Amino acid sequence: MSDERDPSAQAGLPPGEFAARRARVLAALGPDALVVGAGTPVTYARDVEHRFRVDSDFYWLTGLAEPGAVLVLRGGAEQPFTLFVRPREPEREAWTGPRIGPEGAVAGYGADRAYPLGELPLQLPELLDGAERLHFAPWKSAALDQAVQRALGELALKEAQGRRAPGAIVLPAELLHELRLVKSAGELAALRRAAELTAQGVAAGIARVAPGRREAQVQAAVEAAFLEHGASGPAFPTIVAAGAHACCLHYSDNRGAIGAGELVLIDAGAECALYNGDISRTVPADGRFAPAQRAVYEIVLEAEQAAIAAVRPGATLQAVHDAALAVLVRGLVELGLLSGPLELLLETRAYRSFFMHRTSHWLGVDVHDVGRTHAGGAPRPLVPGMVFTVEPGLYLAPGAEGVPPEFAGLGIRLEDDVAVTADGAEVLTRGVPIAPDAVAALVGTEGP
Ligand code: MG
Repeated sequence: MSDERDPSAQAGLPPGEFAARRARVLAALGPDALVVGAGTPVTYARDVEHRFRVDSDFYWLTGLAEPGAVLVLRGGAEQPFTLFVRPREPEREAWTGPRIGPEGAVAGYGADRAYPLGELPLQLPELLDGAERLHFAPWKSAALDQAVQRALGELALKEAQGRRAPGAIVLPAELLHELRLVKSAGELAALRRAAELTAQGVAAGIARVAPGRREAQVQAAVEAAFLEHGASGPAFPTIVAAGAHACCLHYSDNRGAIGAGELVLIDAGAECALYNGDISRTVPADGRFAPAQRAVYEIVLEAEQAAIAAVRPGATLQAVHDAALAVLVRGLVELGLLSGPLELLLETRAYRSFFMHRTSHWLGVDVHDVGRTHAGGAPRPLVPGMVFTVEPGLYLAPGAEGVPPEFAGLGIRLEDDVAVTADGAEVLTRGVPIAPDAVAALVGTEGP
């Protein structure tokens, strides 16, 4: 396979990255089989579709993002990797773009065998015959569910002829998501790139913030910078939340106006070869923090720094969360929003109406990436190569009990992406300032 036809090269990953992943999965599969579908486009309105986003497991295993495709891996087989793809149809391709076809699946994506999708019902029983277990996530695609069900039924019917259906179906998460959780050197490079693009976009958004502008104009600046610098688009709906909109965690309506004296929360991510960044910054609309805003900002910033300082191999996401929480709760007491002994406030979760989410989520091909956070009922130890966000916040909703007027409507979240290294953390998102004066100085520097 030449380099330019290796999907790893297309994704900016080292040559053979996807083949190496499949080799690890095949080793873990043993006598089992794995079936994963690429998914199909989702309707936006009537006959218009959303931009196709391939299933993350399918992409992680193949580097291929073609609608409808199906992968079968068979542990222990001489030709373990089979792909089913849409057949070449020049007339259809004139409307919807080129398809790789079965030949392209072999030549460009390293499949041992590839068939037109229509042959799935015919070939699947053969491919699953004799596997101990089938790793398969049902309920994602009715068509694929039906193909698997029929294949298993056919094998069961032919047991007298020596066929054998897999004895159990298990969710592929257990095997695949454990492997996806710890990133390879190539994946870390892809995540650094996504983080860098995200930082450029968020910085461009901050530069567009000014009283009188609309949230959507800031969103446009963020997303234009993503595309300008090579991202494939936003990883998730960009959040630009002025004033009290920031107290809604996933606000992405972005149709409000930015008022003088308000804070603006931007939470955005660039998608780059399907790896994602995720950054939040909160900035003063007119480039100057009011004293109450600054007081809350500094607490959230200290919480973020304490959480990042807690990242190292052997620590846990729970410990990272606890580090942020201790600072936030102490800060809420200092501001007069909570009162009582720290231990008790933590134990009773008295802070919950001001900080209602966790500090971290895994980051990778999915923005909220896969992999268990607990093992054996306890938070699992971090290991080098795990990548996650650190994103404490304080949300002092207007009308919330015990919130004095100067704090009412403030929503502040600060979020960076970190990778666990051999002895600590690498912050991937240094490209956009976070210190209050530095980030305030960037506000409004772009355009009329
Ligand atoms: Mg975020």
